[in-house]
Amino acid sequence: MTKRFLTGEYNRNIPDAVKKALLFCSETAGKAGIPIFLIGGIVRDIVINQKNFDVDITVQGNAIEFAGLVRDSYPGICELRETHQPFKTAKICFNIDNEWVKTDLASTRKESYPYPGSLPEVEEIGCELYEDVIRRDFTINAMALSLNRGNFCELVDCLNGYEDLGRGIIRVLHPNSFIDDPTRIIRALKFSVRLGYKLDKKTHALMRQCLDSGRFDNFAGERVKLELKQALNLNRAECLTRFINENIYRLIDTDISHFENAGIIKKIVNEYRDFLGTEDNTWLIYLSAILENPETMENLYMSGKEQAIVLGAAALNEKKDLLINALTRFEIYEFFENSEPESILGFLAKNPGLEDKAGLYLSELRHTTLHISGDSLIDMGLRPGPDFGRLLRETLKAKVNGEISTLEEEIGFVKLKI
Ligand code: ATP
Repeated sequence: MTKRFLTGEYNRNIPDAVKKALLFCSETAGKAGIPIFLIGGIVRDIVINQKNFDVDITVQGNAIEFAGLVRDSYPGICELRETHQPFKTAKICFNIDNEWVKTDLASTRKESYPYPGSLPEVEEIGCELYEDVIRRDFTINAMALSLNRGNFCELVDCLNGYEDLGRGIIRVLHPNSFIDDPTRIIRALKFSVRLGYKLDKKTHALMRQCLDSGRFDNFAGERVKLELKQALNLNRAECLTRFINENIYRLIDTDISHFENAGIIKKIVNEYRDFLGTEDNTWLIYLSAILENPETMENLYMSGKEQAIVLGAAALNEKKDLLINALTRFEIYEFFENSEPESILGFLAKNPGLEDKAGLYLSELRHTTLHISGDSLIDMGLRPGPDFGRLLRETLKAKVNGEISTLEEEIGFVKLKI
């Protein structure tokens, strides 16, 4: 194997604060004689000159003990935040020039799958690095970069990930990979779309075989959800199209609604992104185009709120004739009232012709509020009762329809209606 040092790439792509933190780890490892490596996604991204802020280190030994050594060597700079005894992993944080650098430390481990689709079982902790890399998903994610002083930045690439990165190829490590863990199918989709890479021919055939076998009864839906979320949140039409056309949806159901025009979703998301909340729920807008069955959503371990967004889009779609026939601003308001913006965009994906009305609601109508309240009606001498709701609703209707706008106009309107 040719020795390859990625010193230039490391210096270019790792931020200075992270470099300082890694130097602390390196010093500690040197003193204790422990081999440590950057591993997985961060190495892949160093090679292809992309920024990656998930600092994953694998420790050939016990990562919790190593974390303790780093903390003791750099008190005031390094804090041990979390440990997980069964897998011997730890999270440490470095205070570098008042910036926190988070670092995940894992012990090298050998794994096996008791049955297809199950979570892997740990066979050995602190094993040789080779055992740790061959449990991974793709060659491009199975590289390690030495952090030890003697060979700092030497690439450890037992499975030719470097070459595959150069050729833009995603390749599994063994024929049973997808059967062992079908979430890798969605990971393959995610990396393929995100990096613009192709699945190697054999890998593609293995994926098809796995999807055709339908062997995912014991399958961990929660992990599929996380991967699918990341894939669809890329907001790339290709992701949904391939999810459908390459039968990847079979991981979550035997059938789904087919959807031809994923490009429209991308356009809608880009256009209305500012109306969405801080949490990136783009994936739910894509899923709204293909999911209607609550059982499928359960299979995918979607939360109540996530299901409500997708079901909300389906409910709007059911009654869409009301919107088609809506003539007034208030009819549009009533149609969408209380719908989550993501549900509205999911609905719009299926009904792009109704964009003007949906856009009007999202940008303007839904923000309509009254100056007056029940208290104002009491101040006007009215007694609380069922009429209150009706009066306020009628005032809101007039306001949404643009007939009134100021406080005085609202009060005048109520007086007319009493
Ligand atoms: P991203 O840039 O999307 O975060 P990543 O490769 O860093 O990608 P993680 O999900 O953080 O993704 O996983 C870290 C590493 O763990 C991967 O690079 C891979 O080596 C390994 N890994 C993750 N998921 C699996 C899996 N399902 N099977 C095998 N190895 C996996």
